[in-house]
Amino acid sequence: MSLESILSGVADAARAANRDAADVTLIAVSKVQPLERVVAILEQGHRVFGENRVQEAAQKWPELMERYAGVALHIIGPLQTNKARQAMELAHAIHSLDRPKLAQTLARLAQERGACPDLYIQVNTGAEAQKAGILPDAADDFVQECRSMDLPVVGLMCIPPVDEDPAPHFQMLADMAARNGLSGLSMGMSSDYATAIAHGATHVRVGSAIFGERVPT
Ligand SMILES: *Cc1c(COP(=O)(O)O)cnc(C)c1O
Repeated sequence: MSLESILSGVADAARAANRDAADVTLIAVSKVQPLERVVAILEQGHRVFGENRVQEAAQKWPELMERYAGVALHIIGPLQTNKARQAMELAHAIHSLDRPKLAQTLARLAQERGACPDLYIQVNTGAEAQKAGILPDAADDFVQECRSMDLPVVGLMCIPPVDEDPAPHFQMLADMAARNGLSGLSMGMSSDYATAIAHGATHVRVGSAIFGERVPT
């Protein structure tokens, strides 16, 4: 696989869904990848990347952002409140707003800084015990709660259970976003991004299909 083939896969999926390919952003998930692979994708002109750990992002990206203009970094993994400030300084968007405590911390920091990245609320669509995210039943209230704190919530994010058809999960997220007046839908990974685009994804998070298998750390 390659960046080029995934970009054309995204365009094909958009076309098949009667959508404009420009309305789907490909987030290249560079977590745990060797630096030379990340540089190779930057050299090809791609500028939107995802990392799931703040610490790793902070080690890797400030230097790369100096070398390559226009990078937008998306934090897509679970965020501890004590990493929230660092995440806000680095990121264009945070996709893992998943609990009131984190919302309160982000709201306080946003006030202090006078700026806040775009925020996506992560929904645990499969109600899996081990997975982060607000439960589907609580999601509408949580959207309201975040809005009342003046947080810039732009959309919803989900990671469907690995052993299930992702389509109903993507549809659930799309319905939830629509009824809450949210336009952003962060859903779809290497194995299911085309299905996600068919269900309205605006941001697909694709790692291994672009970079190759992750090298275990
Ligand atoms: C790692 C990761 C991805 C990308 O996964 P691939 O299967 O390699 O495409 C997407 N979203 C999140 C939240 C991730 O942690």
